[in-house]
Amino acid sequence: MTNSLPSYLDRSHLGPWEVFLEQVDRVHPHLGELGYWIETLKRPKRILIVDIPVKMDDGSIRHFEGYRVHHNTSRGPGKGGVRYHQDVTLSEVMALAGWMTIKNAVIGLPFGGAKGGVRVDPRTLTRGELERLTRRYTSEIGVLIGPDKDIPAPDVNTNEQIMAWMMDTYSINQGRTVMGVVTGKPVSLGGSLGRREATGRGVFIVGRSAARKLGLDLAGARVTIQGYGNVGATAARCFASAGAKIVALQDVTGTIHNGDGIDLDALQHWLDGGGTLGRFPGATTIANEDLWSVETDILVPAALEGQIDRHNAMDIKARLILEGANGPTTPEADDILTSRGVTIVPDVLTNAGGVTVSYFEWVQDFSSFFWTEQEINERLERILSEAFEAVWKAAQEHRVTLRTAAYILACRRVLEARQLRGIYP
Ligand code: GLU
Repeated sequence: MTNSLPSYLDRSHLGPWEVFLEQVDRVHPHLGELGYWIETLKRPKRILIVDIPVKMDDGSIRHFEGYRVHHNTSRGPGKGGVRYHQDVTLSEVMALAGWMTIKNAVIGLPFGGAKGGVRVDPRTLTRGELERLTRRYTSEIGVLIGPDKDIPAPDVNTNEQIMAWMMDTYSINQGRTVMGVVTGKPVSLGGSLGRREATGRGVFIVGRSAARKLGLDLAGARVTIQGYGNVGATAARCFASAGAKIVALQDVTGTIHNGDGIDLDALQHWLDGGGTLGRFPGATTIANEDLWSVETDILVPAALEGQIDRHNAMDIKARLILEGANGPTTPEADDILTSRGVTIVPDVLTNAGGVTVSYFEWVQDFSSFFWTEQEINERLERILSEAFEAVWKAAQEHRVTLRTAAYILACRRVLEARQLRGIYP
């Protein structure tokens, strides 16, 4: 089943997608006969590139490039977020869609993997421009999305308001309200309680399980977090509530350090008052690259991909890395850290809390019956804890890293579905 690759899949200049391919290659020897189907994971099922013309407030027209990728739909409809970022590329969206396939399968959610993105810095748009961009993007990808086809959700720089506009635009085009077409909506529009906090809470749930295995007591443990958005900020709060000390934080405005623990309430007060994280007076500002060498027990990369690479992997002091972001560690860094005895809990498990509560939201929308926050959090906790135990066990059995173990479980599920469905015609 090896044919020459289409040009856009050429490995020599691919960035994040190449990282995904490398991760798939590493799992191949562990798949037995199912490895016959491996090629299916190395090619996204379908890719859509769209042009998004937007009338700006000054009367000019700007064109933005948008993407929606279905990586795999063997186990169910596509599922995955939409990212707005000035550096978004097709390679990145393909990789992010691939990671969603693995993530949904390792958790056991009945979804395939998909992802979308728009190459835009949303901070440079007015609210009206952002709404028009979102609506036109949604309309353009309308051929691919739908509650039983592909269900978008928030990702980097997208939020509940953007999901509300997406749901509304799709609904207008359909001529009826279709709540289940996106998740991560406001609670007043069919969203789920607990969805906003779900990814950060999941990082904590999985991190607590991993810390127990390593004999690392969270009370007093030092935690460093890169990214103080939805994921990083919620994870910080959860770790602090468990008695851990948040010793360093980084966002686009800078990096701060306080060995006694950063006071998160004071930081929030500062941010609410218009201050930036990088200038928070309750901590010392340090150089961005010094984040990696901070004395810490736990490191949580919760920003973008490719942050931990061969240049900084030797500097890292943490015993435990929890990947809140998607794809934050390059395969080379993975090897360096593993050889140094650092435990890395992979993104496809660590940040799966978000899509797990997205699944709950989708189910609640279909049944028009909404659960309490307690029910949601209990179910989230059970699902993530069981997935963590299964991955840990597989890692011991196969003597592989937690990432490869997660890929073994996930790829078996995806490829078994592929095999049972067969190839048409
Ligand atoms: N963007 C999130 C992720 O990377 C959530 C996806 C979803 O809820 O569909 O997992």
